[in-house]
Amino acid sequence: MSNVHELGFIKDRIEQLKKDGVYRKLPVLEGPDEAEIILNGKKVINLSSNNYLGFANHPRLKEGAKKMIDKYGVGAGAVRTIVGNMDIHEELEELLAKFKREEAAFLYQSGFNCNAGTIQAITEKGDLIISDELNHASIIDGVRLTKSDKAIYKHADMDSLEAILKEKRGDYKNCLIITDGVFSMDGDIAPLPDIVNLAEKYECMTYVDDAHGSGVLGESGRGTVDHFDLHGRVDFSIGTLSKAIGVIGGYVAGSKTMYEWLNHRARPVLFSTSLMPAAAGAIMESIKMLMESTEYTDRLWDNAKYFKEKLGALGFNTGHSQTPITPVIIGDEAKTMEFSRTLLENGVFVSGIVFPTVPKGTGRVRCMVTAGHTKEQLDRAVEVFKKTGEQMNLL
Ligand SMILES: *Cc1c(COP(=O)(O)O)cnc(C)c1O
Repeated sequence: MSNVHELGFIKDRIEQLKKDGVYRKLPVLEGPDEAEIILNGKKVINLSSNNYLGFANHPRLKEGAKKMIDKYGVGAGAVRTIVGNMDIHEELEELLAKFKREEAAFLYQSGFNCNAGTIQAITEKGDLIISDELNHASIIDGVRLTKSDKAIYKHADMDSLEAILKEKRGDYKNCLIITDGVFSMDGDIAPLPDIVNLAEKYECMTYVDDAHGSGVLGESGRGTVDHFDLHGRVDFSIGTLSKAIGVIGGYVAGSKTMYEWLNHRARPVLFSTSLMPAAAGAIMESIKMLMESTEYTDRLWDNAKYFKEKLGALGFNTGHSQTPITPVIIGDEAKTMEFSRTLLENGVFVSGIVFPTVPKGTGRVRCMVTAGHTKEQLDRAVEVFKKTGEQMNLL
């Protein structure tokens, strides 16, 4: 009998991961995502989640979700184009549009789906997509699903972007420039005003993925476009509802024209069931809380600044982050994973991030400070970094 079912080629690759020191089991979270969590049976400080505002277990969001379960049940029952388009989905889109100060917002089941669906819907053969080299995996996959040509510019490098525009723009019909608003691995902000100026000079559309900017940057977390006051000059502004907003889902904010078209052509919405009603209910509370007050975003930035200063003072390399994302760059892949494991043993959970998520030799642990952390918890975390850094001779 053939041994095809043994999947030998995959087993070999798994062995290689083990040899490279990057093989891992998934950590198991028992209970809600909060500043302190029970992970693999042990209580630790959580510096790994994207729950920037502490909304994932907030009573008001939970109430919002429960109300919708009582009224609508748990599943939407169909894709939106058949009978899964509930009034609360449209209500949520209107609220998101208002929050983002745009004409319209189109809802997806996740941020990943949003990139997978939107990019292919708005481009075609004969178009050019120009993308930052550090853009998120879901953008890369979204671009792969198109029939357009692609070009990559050096990270945040406007000379590199303009060189591509000069050389290639004339050969194509439409051109779309795509960037993360906040880069998820380094925490730096895209030079959006410069990108928009270049885009307008060369008649290109602009697309900003604000997964890490939503609920973080701009007035009360309205995002990178609001932060730079570029309303009306970015065509597609993507946000997730899964990170700071605390629930699940994604959307693209922009013009009514965009909305109408995506209603007909966004494949993840056409062929996958719509967002569960409870999620819509919880998200609406989240957005309303942000529209009512800047309390949560203020606390987030205050905590982030506090933590970053303390880590920097210890001598760690925290890179060039401009946002609450705080990388601690170690370099070597295996050493990075060991640092993460030792931090966990000492009571702090910070996931190690290595190739292929970041370039080889730039392994880091990525600290995600949130509005939900107390100063006391942050102080304790800093103590653990100091102890672990000394243990491993990193300081
Ligand atoms: C996390 C992330 C996504 C995916 O968002 P989900 O809502 O979790 O699917 C997309 N783009 C970027 C830049 C991200 O960081």
